[in-house]
Formats: sequence, C-alpha cells, structure tokens
Amino acid sequence: MSDKRYVLLGPPGAGKGTQAEKLCGELKIPHLATGDLLRAAVANQTPVGLEVKPFMESGRLVPDEVVINVLMEAIETAKKKKLSGYVLDGFPRTFRQAEALEKVLKKRKEKIDLVILIDTPDEVIQERLSTRRSCPDPLCGAVYNIKSKPPKKANVCDLCGKQLVIRSDDQPETIRVRQKQYWHDTAPLVDFYERRGNLCHVPGDGSLEEVAELILQAAQTGIRRKAPRK
Ligand SMILES: [Zn+2]
Repeated sequence: MSDKRYVLLGPPGAGKGTQAEKLCGELKIPHLATGDLLRAAVANQTPVGLEVKPFMESGRLVPDEVVINVLMEAIETAKKKKLSGYVLDGFPRTFRQAEALEKVLKKRKEKIDLVILIDTPDEVIQERLSTRRSCPDPLCGAVYNIKSKPPKKANVCDLCGKQLVIRSDDQPETIRVRQKQYWHDTAPLVDFYERRGNLCHVPGDGSLEEVAELILQAAQTGIRRKAPRK
C-alpha cells in the first residue's frame, strides 16, 4: 500500500480513467475520480450532493470550491480506513484549480507527491475517440469503447440499460476543438507542476497494458521524464 498522493493528467481519450483504476489496484489506494465522487454524492444525497445536484442535472460546471469539498470528504473517508495515499483523476484540470488544491492540502500539511502526465499524440486520440460510446444519462456517466471496452449487449449501457450514444464531444469535428481546449487549459497546469518539480511524462501511444506498466514504474520510482515533444 502506497502513502503517496498522485494526480493523473492526460488529454480526453488518453484512457486516464482506466489507467487510474489500474494504478490504484496495483498500489492498493483509492481512486478519487471527481466525476464519480460527484455522482455518488448526488445519489447518496449528502449535504454537498444536494448542492451539486442542480449543476449536474443541467450539465453546468460544478464550482471549484464545491468539487474540492467533495474531494476532501473522500480523502477523510479514506483516512478513516488508514489510507493516506490516493490517485486524483479529473481534478485539477486548470492552473486555478491546482492552486486551490495546493492551498487546501497545505493547511492539512499535505501535498501532491507526483503528477503523471499521459502524453498521447493527437492522432492516436482521434482514432480512439471515434470508437467511444457513452451513456446519455448524466447521472450514470458510463463510457464504453466498441474496440477496447464494449458493453455486454451491443449499444446498451451495462449499468442502466439506456441506448448508448456518440457524444457530440466525440464527433471528429469537435475532437479537434476539445484538443485545442485541453492544451489551452493544461499547458499552464503542466507548467505549475513542472515548477514544483514533481511532474512526470509517460508516453501514451502504446497499448493499454504498456502504458499501465510505464505509469506504475513512474509511480513507484518517481523518476521524472522530460516531455518528448513540443
Ligand atoms: Zn448508463
């Protein structure tokens, strides 16, 4: 069991969620995926869940402070189970969020130990996203891939039985726009952690297993790799 705190970063379509899950399985630490935590808070009608619900239902962005509260709740819950390490997935996404997170953690005398950036070429992502299918229910949020992670029954959500859709986000025209947006938001975030000296680049163009192995190595050794391009 690791007591290190990780952040996993990567462009949409880099398989970040799947990789975070695998890493947490290996290190036996909780996977704190913001999207899942928010949905769970709504489903369990916790105080913060009631606050989040109107945002989730209307598809609006949940304010940073609220997301941080949800995260801290999850960190506390893990702590009660004697788990001090974790992998953050989905937060922070912007420089502002990284700063806010650092501030909150500092008060707890904690910090992020390692930030792992999955570096996946834009072409690889375009190919992967074109085979992605999503559950249309925002409170379910399941995501499939007809090539690498198909649902049990073709085009039907395993979890809630709804017909899967190609999200407008995953249409080829919008993928390019999202990639641009991602680099726009992420570049300052990457700089932020680069300056903190705890950013590690992992090439993301291999198979799921290959990338998982590289991420695990990075997490265990903490060896920093330089960015391969840009
Ligand atoms: Zn569903």
